[in-house]
Order: sequence, then C-alpha cells, then structure tokens
Amino acid sequence: MEIAQVAIFAVAFVVSFAYAGYAVMKYWKLAHLGQPQEIKSTFGSKVKNVFINVILQKKLMKKPVRGIFHIFIFYGFLIYGGHTTSQLIGGFFGPFQMPLVGTTGYEFSIPKLIEKLIPHFHYIYDYALDIVSLLVLSGLAFFALRRWVYRAYELDRPSGQSMVVISMISTLMISTLIAEGAHAILQANTHISPIRTSMVSLLSGWGVTSANAGHWYIGGWWTHIVTVFAFMAFVPNSKHAHLIWAPVNFWFEKETPKGQLSYLDTENAKVWGAANVQDFTWKDHMNGLSCIECGRCTIECPANRTGKQLNPKSIMGDLKHALMEQMGKVQAAKKAGKTDEEIAAMPELRVIDNYTSQESLWACTTCYACVEACPVGNNQVDAIIGMRRALVLSEGALPGELQTALTNMENQSNPWGVGSHKREEWTEGLNIKTMAKWAEEGQKPDVLFWVGCAGAFDDRNKKIAQSLAGLMNKADVKFGILGTEENCTGDSARRAGNEYLFQTLAGMNIQTMNNYGVQKIVTSCPHCFNTLKNEYPQMGGNYEVEHHTTFLDKLLTENKIQVDQQKAKELGVVTYHDSCYLGRYNDTYDAPRSVIEKATDGKVVEAVDTKSRGLCCGAGGAQMWKEEENGKERVNIKRTNQLIATEAKTVASACPFCITMIADGVKSVEKEESVKTLDVAEILAQTAK
Ligand code: SF4
Ligand code: SF4
Repeated sequence: MEIAQVAIFAVAFVVSFAYAGYAVMKYWKLAHLGQPQEIKSTFGSKVKNVFINVILQKKLMKKPVRGIFHIFIFYGFLIYGGHTTSQLIGGFFGPFQMPLVGTTGYEFSIPKLIEKLIPHFHYIYDYALDIVSLLVLSGLAFFALRRWVYRAYELDRPSGQSMVVISMISTLMISTLIAEGAHAILQANTHISPIRTSMVSLLSGWGVTSANAGHWYIGGWWTHIVTVFAFMAFVPNSKHAHLIWAPVNFWFEKETPKGQLSYLDTENAKVWGAANVQDFTWKDHMNGLSCIECGRCTIECPANRTGKQLNPKSIMGDLKHALMEQMGKVQAAKKAGKTDEEIAAMPELRVIDNYTSQESLWACTTCYACVEACPVGNNQVDAIIGMRRALVLSEGALPGELQTALTNMENQSNPWGVGSHKREEWTEGLNIKTMAKWAEEGQKPDVLFWVGCAGAFDDRNKKIAQSLAGLMNKADVKFGILGTEENCTGDSARRAGNEYLFQTLAGMNIQTMNNYGVQKIVTSCPHCFNTLKNEYPQMGGNYEVEHHTTFLDKLLTENKIQVDQQKAKELGVVTYHDSCYLGRYNDTYDAPRSVIEKATDGKVVEAVDTKSRGLCCGAGGAQMWKEEENGKERVNIKRTNQLIATEAKTVASACPFCITMIADGVKSVEKEESVKTLDVAEILAQTAK
C-alpha cells in the first residue's frame, strides 16, 4: 500500500511535469515559426529588466492597490517554493523513513535542513509561510471581488480560467494551513505562529486530536500536491501562462528607443507586414502568450475610452488565440512540404479580419499608453503597425482620406497637399535664412530649425513657427531652415503602415541634411522630433535633435531670453497637455512645464490623466488625416473637457497636432471666448522681453 502511494505520486509527478514541459516547448516552437526579430540588448540590461519588472514588479505598481495584492500572490508563490519543493522531494519517499534526514518523506523539509546552517530558520520560515498564506488568500479575494462583484469594465466575465486558477491557488493555501495545523497537533508543538495556533484551535474544534491528526496531515499533504500537479498541467495552456512567459518577455525586451518602429527591408523581406499568424515576429507571439488579460492597456486606450472597437487587450488576445489555434497548421503544412506561398494562401491563418477587425486597427493613435501600462512588457503598437503594413503595402486597404494624405505626401511632400514651392511662405517679413543661403555665404549655422509640414503649411501652426523663429532671433541663435528642400519626415506615412513612402521621404531628407553637414536640429513638432531623433539613425541620419521646449528652457536658464514679469502675470492660469510623442515616447515632461512656469510666473495646473498617463489628443498614428471610427465620443473632445475642467484660462501644448485637435475641441464645446489654446513657444513669445 505504501509502495503504491509512492508509485502513484511518482507517476503523477512525471506526467504533470512532462506535460507542462511539453506544452511550454510546443508554444516556444510555434512562436518561432513566426518571423525573426533581432533583439538588441545586453546581458546586464536583460537581468536588470527582469529584476525590476518581475522581482520588484515595477510596472504593476503603476496601479498601487492592484499592484500590492499582486505582490502578495507573487511573493507568496516564491516563499511557497521552499515548502512545495520539500513536498515534491518528500513525495518520492512517502511514508518511508528517509535515511539521511531521519524523517518520513511526508515530513521532509528543506527549511529544516537549512536550519542546520542558520539557527531557527525553520521557525522563521513557518511564520513567513503562515503569513503569506493569508496574504495570498486576501489577494485572491481582492481579484475575485474586482472581477465578479465590482465587475471592473476591463475584465472579461465569465472567466472560467480565472475561476479555476483562483480555486486552485486557494486550495494550495488552505490545504497547507490545514496540514501544518494538524502537524502541530500531532507533534504537540506549541512553538508556532499565532496563525498556526488559530488553525490548531479551529481543527481541535472540528474534533482533530493527536490520535487522528495524522490523517488530516496526510489529507492536506495530498490535496496540496495533487493541486500542484493539476496547476502544472493547466497553466501552460491558459492565460495564466504569464507566469512562464512574462519573465521571458522582459528578458527579450528590445532596447531600441521607444519611438522607433522596426525597419522593414522592402527589398529582401519575405513578408511586408503581418496579415497571417506566421507573419508576426516571434516576439509578437511572446507578447500574446504573456498577456494575462488584465485590461490595464484597455482602460488607458483613448480609442477604447471613447467607445471605439479597438481594444489593445484583444489585440494581444487575438494573437495568442491565433497562435494556439492556427500555428499548428503552419507547422503541419511545412512538414507536408507546402511552399511559403501555398501556406500564405491558407485563409484560416489570417489574423486580420478572422481575429482582429480592420476598423479596430485604424482606430489606433499609436499613443503608447497601452505599452506604458502593460505589466508584462507587451508592445501592442508593434503588432498594430505590422498589420497596418500588411493592409497598406500588400493589399492597398486603407481609409480613403488617409490614402489622400499619403498621395499628397508623395506628390507635394506634405500631407495637406499644398504646393511644395510654398514651404517658405511663412517666413515672409522675417529675418530667416535657408541652409542654401548660409552655404552660399560660405557659412554654416549652429542649428537647423526643422519647421515641419504643419509649421510651413497650416495657418494656425505657422504662427508657432514664427514665434519660435522670433525667440531664436532674440536669443541670437544662428539658425537656418531647409525651406523648399524640406520634405515631410514621413512619420504619418510610417505609422499608417506605408513604410515604403516613409523610407523614400526619409532618404531624401537625410541626403539633403548630410550634404549640408547638419549636426544639430531643433523642431517644434514632437512627431518630427521623434522621427528625426529615433528613426532616421536606422537609415544613416545621425543628428543631435532637440525639441523646442528643451531648447527654449535652456535659453531661459542661460538668460539668453528674459521674461517681462508684468506680462507674465497677465497670462493667468495655464494647464499643459502632454503630447504622446514628446512625453510617453521621449520622456520629456519637465521642460515644457518649466518654460511655462518661467514665462507665466505661475504653476502649471495639471489636468486628470497627465504626464505618462496623459490622454492622447486623438491625432497621432496618422489619425490626423482621417475621420475617427464609430464611437460614442471624439477623443479630442474627451481630452478638451479634461483640460477645461482645470478652469485654466490657457491650454498649452507643444505639438502642432495637439494644438489643432485641442483648439478644435475648445471650439466644439463653445469655450473659444474664455479659453485660449497656445503653444509653449507662443506663450514665451508673448512674455519675452
Ligand atoms: S497605442 Fe494608444 S490608441 Fe493604440 S491601442 Fe495603444 S492605447 Fe490604444
Ligand atoms: S496586453 Fe498587457 S496590459 Fe493588456 S491585457 Fe494583456 S497583460 Fe494586461
């Protein structure tokens, strides 16, 4: 009978662990049937990334209450490791005496072995185990309440998998508390924690005595161990596989700038973008596997918050389900000798339309709020852009207005479609030299002012370009512009999925700037700033690029621009709207606020959803050039209402797209008379001496 118990344990152990290992290897291999993706990161940064995000749970703590309850469960698992490992080793001996340790297998304890080196370790460990058991149970109760009682919007219901996992982990904790309480009765042990003393009282109340405590102990032991085996078999095939994949995901997180999309080698790439499950990179699939479906990304998404179909959680969930349901067919087709073309033609492998709707893909503003919020290190934007690339480059399927803007970029090198020869018209009457003029005079300016299409062609934004140029003149900055030699940076084209057009525009600009020997660029557009700084180096354009807010802040600090304090007081209270491409992508939060505070002699009042949690204006990711998808509300109206709620007299921003969207929002809510919308440069220009 005793041998039979050990044999049952050994078979169950081998089956559950072998199955878990098989499932993990299966998904690893399936993910790697996707496209290659080179991850540039050092060993040290990988270790740091895992340490910060897995051990310290940094990203989880962005929502502190949920973060703390998750920490209870996570550290509970780690601390339980010693106990469960003891039980797994002990199970091979079962009721038999273990010769070297002097206990039966059931009583085998790693902490007791460690006690031979560290006095009292076993007691300390038992105390910790009792405490974490309760903390884990409180964490499980919290998450169950959020899902089923409080019914948090971002969580799916019903969720059978969550129910199973919460039940399993609860069973692990309760079985341990019962087994250890019974063990204390069996051994008449009084040197135990108050929690275990309470368990002893409870068990005694249920009629457990030293005569029958052994049965309770063994019962608890087996319950715990059977649950461990069930957990091992269940987890790799469930959303709780994040336990396995999230650390892997952080280990392989790319270190390239946040604002840099992957370079598509349009000459040699096997696929242009990702339409089918095998077109996504293996790292995209790691993202999908890691997703725990917590919905933190969803509640930050401006599109989802305004009732659009887009849900970044579903983007990741779709990828995971496509991998689990379809990638095996790719594997089988390859084994059967089918060519890549034949496999690509299998309709069931398509992720776009079969899993993810085109409407949701076009609603993304690429604001990066989802990536910033995701506790397992997922990058939803990469997946969305991959699918947009497939739609645009391979299928020519994109919203009509967007196609018009792209055609304008091709023909006139700006999305408005204004004749490119008019690019310098905004400079009329101002003392501004082109780079060509500087070269003609045999000189070179210190700074290239990258004006951008908005500054050059849009009437409202021309005023911002003029203000900035005026401030640079005031500060005696030697600067030049490219004038008619400047083309659109290609930001909108790239984010709309037209990588080919982006590379064409970027190639022309880089050639022009390299010919002039440009070293330093200042621009007032965060989209141009991000592309010039983070993406042009992919194509050989390496420059020192500064956004005008940091540039102006330095000029103020160096006293090259001085503020008239009387005028500064007149401006009144200002609130600042963060541009996603300046803030979240490039971590510039302080400089614009610093300029405003110096220019207005007052503190910036913060709107809700500010800085890294700032709500997008709705224009990024090429949304500027198309109508919003069906939703309950426009993104710019939602954001404008948040800004107006601060009761500030001026809404400031530092991005031409944001200015356009917020000004439009202010007009729509009929607050034009009482609320001004100004760029940071305009504010400073108004108060500078
Ligand atoms: S990038 Fe922004 S708009 Fe796009 S899915 Fe993420 S949160 Fe939503
Ligand atoms: S992608 Fe990240 S934030 Fe979104 S649901 Fe999945 S784990 Fe949560």
